Amino acid sequence: MGILVISGPSGAGKSSIIERATPRLGDIYFSISTTTRPQREGEIDGVHYNFVDKKSFEHDIKEGNFLEYARVHDNYYGTSIKPVKEALAQGKLVIFDIDVQGHGFVRNRLGDLTTSVFITPPTLAELKDRLQSRSTDSSAVVSKRIENAIFEIEALNEYDFLIINDDLDKAVEQFVTIGQAAKLKYSNDEISAFLKQWNNL
Ligand code: 5GP
Repeated sequence: MGILVISGPSGAGKSSIIERATPRLGDIYFSISTTTRPQREGEIDGVHYNFVDKKSFEHDIKEGNFLEYARVHDNYYGTSIKPVKEALAQGKLVIFDIDVQGHGFVRNRLGDLTTSVFITPPTLAELKDRLQSRSTDSSAVVSKRIENAIFEIEALNEYDFLIINDDLDKAVEQFVTIGQAAKLKYSNDEISAFLKQWNNL
């Protein structure tokens, strides 16, 4: 059981690292976020995100269905509580790819179970290069993402780990190590139960 939060700017290589590392982490649940942002080419509804409109998202906020949500680049992004609870109850490692605001909320609510890692290219200049060579986004979107990256990096010291992604193989190895450690976390409830038992012996 445990929660692993991954944050970092778009273009940091998060998806490639996750794709290669997660098959090596055993029983995991990768949290599928809900978003109001337009679907990109190649993205599948229900796999990469649950794509919804603003009205439906705001309804879910009112109903208290989100563990956390945030506005990023003018769109809503949120994590539904239900599947996360179910996965934790099954003893799985739950992985979130969320922004720094989301990390703050998860740490506040589920800090005992949370391990976090921030992933970034080695420099801002390199991030700009990567985003500009990725043809999927308009230049206005790229500028927004860069602006957001400059804001997000300020929160680096709130994270347990930093992966500087200048070598994908190395970054994947580091991620697997962090994920394995994240699985070893005990919740406060588990610690209390253990202490009770331990004291009775
Ligand atoms: P993208 O539009 O590139 O898929 O994601 C933009 C940003 O939104 C990324 O930094 C990503 O980590 C963040 N994000 C995705 N899902 C969630 C979520 O459920 N909650 C929060 N707080 N951020 C999210």
